[in-house]
Order: sequence, then structure tokens, then C-alpha cells
Amino acid sequence: MSVLWVLGAGQLGAMLKQAGMPLGIDVRPVDIEATETLSLSSTDIITAEREEWPETAATRQLSTHSNFVNLATFPQLADRLTQKQWLDRLALATAPWFPVESDSSAQHAYQTLGERVLLKRRRGGYDGKGQYWLKQSEATEIPEDWKGYAIAEQAINFDEEVSLVGVRGKNGDTYFYPLTLNLHINGILYASISPLDRLKPFQSKAETMLSKLMEALDYVGVMAMECFRVGDDLLINELAPRVHNSGHWTQAGASVCQFENHVRAVTGLPLAPAEVKNQSMMVNLIGIDLDYEWLKIKGLELYWYKKEVRLGRKVGHLNFCSGSLTILQSALADLKLPKPYPEALLWLAKNLP
Ligand code: ATP
Ligand code: MG
Ligand code: MG
Repeated sequence: MSVLWVLGAGQLGAMLKQAGMPLGIDVRPVDIEATETLSLSSTDIITAEREEWPETAATRQLSTHSNFVNLATFPQLADRLTQKQWLDRLALATAPWFPVESDSSAQHAYQTLGERVLLKRRRGGYDGKGQYWLKQSEATEIPEDWKGYAIAEQAINFDEEVSLVGVRGKNGDTYFYPLTLNLHINGILYASISPLDRLKPFQSKAETMLSKLMEALDYVGVMAMECFRVGDDLLINELAPRVHNSGHWTQAGASVCQFENHVRAVTGLPLAPAEVKNQSMMVNLIGIDLDYEWLKIKGLELYWYKKEVRLGRKVGHLNFCSGSLTILQSALADLKLPKPYPEALLWLAKNLP
């Protein structure tokens, strides 16, 4: 039996491994700093839990294997410049932008994009790290070390943030989960909720957008599309060529979760539409210590990543799925977490149907 190797051994790799177990698929996450020689066979399959990676002994072995699924796509999407170019080429709506070059000026940014402009590092940014706001009212200038390494994006005054997680098989079939409503605080995802009836009018539009991309890239596996909803429109914020935090609720709330769908797709197993079970919500655990008292809360499912707890670091998540809104509301009321969680829990409570 061939092995599915995952480049990267963080929480996403661990959850892919967990999803492979009932399928009888041996999923092996590989730490990019691992130094040993991997026992790769020619029939093995390689995927990744991250968009880019440094050249190391481990990544060299994996990335030179001929069965690395989507290998050519990673650099296209990992660089925000080429990602934005793909969106423009496919005429997919995205925040207006331009590349920040050595001769770019803040003046030009204010003239073309407006009085608030968000610089984003082309590579390596996550959880809102790698962002820099330019404000005309404060005459902010572009830092020298961002020139050539960033894009400039118009500040979008969005109504809310939604994401679509989809999967595409080797035969080109695609399946999607319902749109997820996401709350970011300071650029980092705190909470998600899905499905929501009020997002249904956007579902087919979003699926058409993500399908177009996955097809153009001949992509196989799970991809996530983060969007801003502005009135009746969806603007693509960014794409992730991998399983995604905003799809974690599917572990509790769907018959086939995003991790299993990714494992199935890249190994060429059959795909089928996932049954969405009930109302789901997800809360990210960010920079807070593990507390097994949480387990007393009815309906709560804990995922603890066993990472060192640091300020602003995702160290776990909580899933909830229930057909009873009363159970979900009381779970939110019973969950005692420090600032800014009261805001996130209130947001979930308000968005429950
Ligand atoms: P992720 O952890 O999702 O990969 P990231 O660091 O790659 O995050 P983005 O998703 O680009 O960064 O941005 C993080 C958050 O910052 C968004 O979810 C949104 O809340 C806010 N944001 C990003 N771009 C804009 C924009 N153009 N206008 C207003 N807010 C924005
Ligand atoms: Mg990102
Ligand atoms: Mg994002």
C-alpha cells in the first residue's frame, strides 16, 4: 500500500493523518527540518499542508518525487503577486491592487487605491502577519524593505468575511461545503459558523469562482477561497491551496470532513457530496492554555495541537455541531475565555439562526 506523505508536520498534517486512518491510508506528515532519509516508494503520493517551504533535506526529497500533487501550483499561489495575477487573468473579482516596486510611492497608492491602503508581503504572511497599513491622514510612507516584496491593496469596507472550501478530484469533479462566515480579529481567524441560510444566495456564485480557479490550475485536492462580502458581491481576498482553518467545522459538521476529502482526492479515491449534519461553529484557541474543564460543555469537541502556547499563536480549536440551537447557545454561554473571546462568542451567538 502506498503512503501519502505530507510536507509539513503541523496541526493540518496531524488532522490529515487522523482523516486517513478510517480509510486505511497511511498518512505521514514530515517535519521540514527532518534530516533522515525518507523511505519513499515510486507509487507513494506527496501533498503539503503549507503553501511554501524552504529547501531542506526533507523538502528536497519530497519535492523531487514525481507524484507530488499540485507541485506547480504552490509557487503560483504562495506568492501574492502571481496569485493576484491569476485572479485578474481569470476575471475573478478581488480587491484592487498593484505590485509594490522599488520606485512605488505612497502618493501613487493613495491616488489609485484611496486613503487607506494595505501592504501585504508577497510571501510567508499568515494570521495577518506581514501586513502594513498606509494611511493618507498620517502620511504613512512605504517602508524601504517592503519595496519589491509586497503588493498594495485597497482597504475593503466589507460587510463580512466568508470562505468557501471545495475539493476537486483527478477526474475534474468538484464538491463544495456550504459557505462559512468567519470572524477575524486583528487579522487572525477567531470563529467560524456554517451553514447559514442567509449565505445561500452567494453559494453558487462562490462555487463558480472557485471552480474556475481549480480548473484553470488543474488542481486536485481541497482548496479554500476567502472572500469579502460587499453588498451582493463577493471579492476574493486570498486563496489557500490546502485544507483551511475555516473548514475545521467540517470535522464535526459533515459526513466527510475537509481532511478526508483532501486525502481521498490526492490518492484518487472516490469523492461524493458531503452530508452537512447540523449547525456548526468553530472557535480557534489562540494563545491560551489548555483547560480540560472545557470538556464538561455539552456538544464541545476539542482539538489540541500540543504546541507551545505563545501570544497570538493558534494552539487548538473547538468544534460544536448540534441540531439544537439551545445547546449551541448554552455552550457559548458556558465557555469562559479571556479577551477578545467575549467579542467572538457574542458574534457567534448573534449569528446563530
Ligand atoms: P491567513 O491566516 O488567512 O492566511 P493572511 O495573513 O494571509 O491570513 P489575509 O487573509 O490577506 O492575511 O488578511 C487577514 C485579514 O486581514 C483578512 O481576513 C481581513 O480581515 C483583513 N484584510 C485583508 N485584506 C484586507 C483589505 N484589502 N481590506 C480590509 N481588510 C483586509
Ligand atoms: Mg493567507
Ligand atoms: Mg486569510
